[in-house]
Amino acid sequence: MLDPPALARLRERYGGAKGGTMHDPAFREVAALQFREGDRRTPPYADPATLLGAPWRREPAGLDVALVGVPMDLGVTNRSGARLGPRAVRAVERIGPYEHVMRIAPATRLAYADLGDIPFRSRFDLASCHADIEAFMAGMRAAGVVPLAVGGDHSLTYPILRALGHERPLGLVHIDAHCDTSGEYEGCRFHHGGPFRQAVLDGVLDPTRTIQIGIRGGAEYLWEFSTDSGMTVIHAEEIDTLGVPAIAARARAVVGDGPAYVSFDVDSLDPAFAPGTGTPEAGGLTPREALALLRGLAGLDIVGADVVEVAPQYDATTNTAQIAAQVLFTELCLVAAARTRR
Ligand code: MN
Ligand code: MN
Repeated sequence: MLDPPALARLRERYGGAKGGTMHDPAFREVAALQFREGDRRTPPYADPATLLGAPWRREPAGLDVALVGVPMDLGVTNRSGARLGPRAVRAVERIGPYEHVMRIAPATRLAYADLGDIPFRSRFDLASCHADIEAFMAGMRAAGVVPLAVGGDHSLTYPILRALGHERPLGLVHIDAHCDTSGEYEGCRFHHGGPFRQAVLDGVLDPTRTIQIGIRGGAEYLWEFSTDSGMTVIHAEEIDTLGVPAIAARARAVVGDGPAYVSFDVDSLDPAFAPGTGTPEAGGLTPREALALLRGLAGLDIVGADVVEVAPQYDATTNTAQIAAQVLFTELCLVAAARTRR
C-alpha cells in the first residue's frame, strides 16, 4: 500500500517532470543523447535509414568505429540473397542507445558512424570483391578505426582478417552453425565455406587463439582443418551441457589478451528465430543465448567484428534482420567496453 508520504514524494519528483528528466546520472547521460531539443526526440522511423541509426558519413576521420555494409554474396554455396543484408539491417529501428546488462551507451564513449557500403569494381567477380574489401579495411586500420561489418556472405570475413591481421595474427570468436574451414573446390577457395582456413594459411589468423561456437548440421566432415590446426570447437548441443557463461569464459581464455575479431553468422541462431539466411541448420542458438555469449566477451581487445549471412528474402517477419542489428549493437558495446578499460 502506497502511504501518503511516499505518494507525495513521487508527485514532487515526477509530477511535473518531462520524459527526458532522469535522476540517475548514467541514465541522464543517455537521455541527453536522445532529447536534443527540450523534450523532443527524433522518431525512430524518420530520415534515411542507417546502421543502428548512426550518423551517415563518407570518411572515417575522427571516428572510433565505422559501421560498414558489405552487400556481396558471390561466395554462397546454397541460397543467395545476403547481398541485401546491409539494407535489411539498416531498416531496423530502435536498437540502442543503451545496453542494460553491460550498462553501456556506446554513443557516450565512442564516435561512430555508418560509412555506407564498400564499393566494388565488379559485382561479378568474387576475388576482386575480396580485394576491394581488403583495401577498404586496410584503410580503416590505417585510420585507427575499428570496423564493424554487416554482410553479405561469410566469405567477406577472409579479406577483413587479411587487412586487420596483417602485422600480428588475430584471435577469433566465431559464432556459426558451420566452421567455415573447408578447402578449395570447383576452382574456388574464396567461397563462404572456407574463410577461416584461408586466413590461417595466410598467417593472419592464429588457430590456437580461435574458438568456433554453435557448430552443427551435416557438414562436420568438412571441418577437420579446425581441430587439426588447433582451433577450439564448441558444438551446438554443448551449449546445454556446458552453459553459456562457461563457454564465454572458455572463449576469453582461448583468445587471451591479444587483438581479437568477432565474427557472427546469423545461421548460428535457430531458424525458428532467424530464418532469413542461405544455409539454415535446425537446432541452433536462441537470440538470448547469443546475446549473453557476446556480452560474456567483454574484456577482449576487439579490433573488428561482423554480422553476416542476413538474407532478407527468406525473412518474412524481419526477425533475422532485427536480431542481426541487436548483435551489431552488442558488438559496438564490446568495443566501447574495451575502449573504456584501456
Ligand atoms: Mn559462416
Ligand atoms: Mn554458417
